[in-house]
Amino acid sequence: MLTLDNHLANIINNYILLAKVNKQQAFDDLVKDEQTLNFLANRFGSVELQNALAQLDQDCNNESNLSLSQSLKHGKEPVNSTSTFEKNLKHSLKSFEDSDSDDDDKSGWEETQALYEELWKRKRQTEEQSIKESHQKKEKKSNVVPICQDYRVGFCRYENIAHIGKCKFRHEGKRPTNFAFTLTPATPSEDQTWRTKFVQAFEGGNVTVTSIQKIENKTLETMYKLKSEEIRNRRKIEEISNFEPYLYHGTTEQALNSIMTYGINIPSDYKADPTCPVSGKLPISICKNDCKLCTQARHCWGNCHMYGLGAYFADKSVKSDRYVYDTNGAKDHKTGRKMLVCKLFPGKVKTIDTHLNKQDQHHDDILPPSGYDSVFAKGLGSNAKVGFSVINSEFIIFHPYQCLPLYLITYNKA
Ligand SMILES: [Zn+2]
Ligand SMILES: [Zn+2]
Ligand SMILES: [Zn+2]
Repeated sequence: MLTLDNHLANIINNYILLAKVNKQQAFDDLVKDEQTLNFLANRFGSVELQNALAQLDQDCNNESNLSLSQSLKHGKEPVNSTSTFEKNLKHSLKSFEDSDSDDDDKSGWEETQALYEELWKRKRQTEEQSIKESHQKKEKKSNVVPICQDYRVGFCRYENIAHIGKCKFRHEGKRPTNFAFTLTPATPSEDQTWRTKFVQAFEGGNVTVTSIQKIENKTLETMYKLKSEEIRNRRKIEEISNFEPYLYHGTTEQALNSIMTYGINIPSDYKADPTCPVSGKLPISICKNDCKLCTQARHCWGNCHMYGLGAYFADKSVKSDRYVYDTNGAKDHKTGRKMLVCKLFPGKVKTIDTHLNKQDQHHDDILPPSGYDSVFAKGLGSNAKVGFSVINSEFIIFHPYQCLPLYLITYNKA
């Protein structure tokens, strides 16, 4: 049975032996070993101990260390150099032995050797275990679904696409869950500005604004900022416009809450089930692929999306008014009509200012043309050809966080 001090003496011996074969290891182990450090500090003062440790640290940096396993492998003698540290430790051990010479229980050299062997055995076991674990981890990883390359700023375009190409990959970095919005009356100056703009952009239509509310959603603001940064980092500065237009968006009343909470919906490529509470009143589903109601029957061209399956915005409120539905899916209600004003980050814009070759030329586009971040379909006014070009301009995005909803306008039509 070893006394505590004898046990410490053995440990110190181990450090001396360890320092002979691997100084770095001895140093690393010792600086973590508070009990031994305290003992040594008591024996020959903390200043001397600090000097000895500094000396060992220096030795570690200056000399190449030969680890025990290396020396066994190459049949070489471990590096045998005497450092101040070693001398100090030996001195400490000596003084310890002198003062405790009457202790019968003092361990012999064999016992020290055995402890030393035990130390290395444990170290080898730990190393073998960690190698085994890292192999197991690697095997496990190879069975895991690869990371999706299309998942950018919390959205993968293929997550609600069932026919044109489903996403089979893993989405790293989840989107936030703390989406929430507040609606407050716009300030008198904002109110005045948007009443005027809205009525002007209605182009003489008999319309009365009843309220302008400000939408605030901190999480959406963050996502919008992240998305614009992601585009800025990917594009050359001269390629993108820093102009962030304020545009109108008309939709079903039942979709408004979801848009103000989670951001604009990017349509899927399948039909909406009439009983679906989210997409039911829409011609196309805006649900994710996991919606139990939307049947996933493909949505096909029906004089609808001229510039692809994206979210559409207009600079004319009269244009967006055509897409305003009430909760019953009717468009002809005269009072309490609601429309959004959103800020857009268009990035690199593909402008289409000619007639399409075919009416459904771009219908199934689920992304902007390669190399672009959004589409601008220029209104051709009286030169527009129905189904091939538009009278009023349209802006189309395919990522929800390129849009930030800012105001909710309620109005009546005569
Ligand atoms: Zn994906
Ligand atoms: Zn649905
Ligand atoms: Zn369509």
